[in-house]
Amino acid sequence: MSLTEDKAASSTGADDIVERVPTGLLIGGEWTEASGGATFEVTNPATGEVLRSVADAAPEDGMRALDAAVAAQESFAQVPALERHGMLMRAFELLHERKDALARLMTLEMGKPLTDSAGEIVYAAEFFRHFAGEALRIDGGYQASPQGGGRFLVARQPVGPSLLITPWNFPMAMGTRKLGPAIAAGCTSVIKPAHQTPLSMLALGEILLEAGVPAGVVNIVTAMDAGGVMEPMIRSGQARKLSFTGSTKVGKILLEQCASTVMRTSMELGGNAPFLVFEDADLDEAVAGCLQAKMRNMGEACTSANRIYVHESIIEEFGRRLAEKMGQMRVGDGSEDGVQVGPLIDTDAQDKVDALVRDALDRGANALTGGERPDGPGYFYPPTVLTGVSMEARMASEEIFGPVAPLTPFTEEDEVVAMANNTRYGLASFVYTNDLRRALRVAERIESGMVGLNQGVVSNPYAPFGGMKESGLGREGGSVGIEEFLEVKYIGITTG
Ligand code: NAP
Repeated sequence: MSLTEDKAASSTGADDIVERVPTGLLIGGEWTEASGGATFEVTNPATGEVLRSVADAAPEDGMRALDAAVAAQESFAQVPALERHGMLMRAFELLHERKDALARLMTLEMGKPLTDSAGEIVYAAEFFRHFAGEALRIDGGYQASPQGGGRFLVARQPVGPSLLITPWNFPMAMGTRKLGPAIAAGCTSVIKPAHQTPLSMLALGEILLEAGVPAGVVNIVTAMDAGGVMEPMIRSGQARKLSFTGSTKVGKILLEQCASTVMRTSMELGGNAPFLVFEDADLDEAVAGCLQAKMRNMGEACTSANRIYVHESIIEEFGRRLAEKMGQMRVGDGSEDGVQVGPLIDTDAQDKVDALVRDALDRGANALTGGERPDGPGYFYPPTVLTGVSMEARMASEEIFGPVAPLTPFTEEDEVVAMANNTRYGLASFVYTNDLRRALRVAERIESGMVGLNQGVVSNPYAPFGGMKESGLGREGGSVGIEEFLEVKYIGITTG
């Protein structure tokens, strides 16, 4: 049975999407093996069980994929915008039709609970709907030259073959957030998903082919040696754009490589989001917002609340309520009904979260709930609330990427703004207050690309997503997202 028949399968509950998802490299519209037939295993982080083996690309496979993207670029750039719009809308519909099966696949390889995975499929599809619309709005300009005797024609053209690299935490949405604008702009691409979660991207590849995206326009390369496969493509001079989502550490390596060919880059990197709760905030809303900002994706989100600053007059009550809610969350295999918190992605992630918690406790923090790493199988970590976290603790400056909420008191607005900005990151921040003047004042002073004012989620396909400082360069989503895949060309015309 092909994925086309998936709707019926998933509605009967008899879906075997894990068995049916393609596991090869998608190159030039064909599913192919890696050189020498190499493969690597994809495992379920809740159980450690092997789900499938997928093709393990070698550097020459990456170059084959880039050649396919380069070969398809010129003709794809000529495809009318209405047709590109149609491809994206068909892919949007297919994602919705197959939501349940795709969610199951995502939960199995990434760990997040089924309802969260289903939510991500809807979120991911929305990038296709949004950029389908943007494809129709690529505009240009025509004006008289101020000196007279001439005209300026300003056109926007696809930037060209693009390299797209995505992380494991949102295996589908981080892909559609890049592929949506690339296809809308008329760019071909090679996309490389994280080795932990390639299956969702491979399922997406099949959907895109079915939606009518021409051969060679989207190529998918899965690999264990990400650097070994990507670097030759980056340095080849054949690709014109790199769009990366992942850690700041890898982002810096890639920026250096891109300098060799002055390649355009979009960098969506790490975060260290502050979450500020002023004494005049609605406490129920602030606790609910903190729960969302902290626990979305088990804390494995770049926008996750990493440092929670609460006014000293309310911190005790805030901590009590947050700990009660986090302590009640059901932890387990995300495939099981009612589970709210799945496993972390792998043992390294579990080790890191545990080390950060131990470090904070050693420096005098107190656990209101959680704080103990459970035994295996699976890479679980309990929702944890810590109070009295020292500014010297590692988690004050490092991305936790797990379900741990460190609370720190503050007294003055200036003081908390300084604490919030005391980081090399600047992706998201959250501010809870009922004082409008303060809300706007603080939102403007915080150095981050996105601010949630009395809201715990900032990610929205229709809004510009991205960071300042070491959190990145460029924006995805919103009306600016497509600009990252367009070149501006000026044509000077003599008329006089
Ligand atoms: P990561 O280690 O940087 O990996 C991200 C991607 O880069 C993966 O596909 C990885 O492949 C690949 N990669 C690793 N080394 C590479 C190299 N030398 N050359 C080319 N590609 C390379 O990050 P992660 O741990 O998967 O993801 C978590 C990070 O992503 C966090 O810091 C988080 O904040 C950030 N993130 C940011 C955003 C945002 O929009 N700002 C969104 C989500 C996540 P392999 O996994 O196969 O090695």
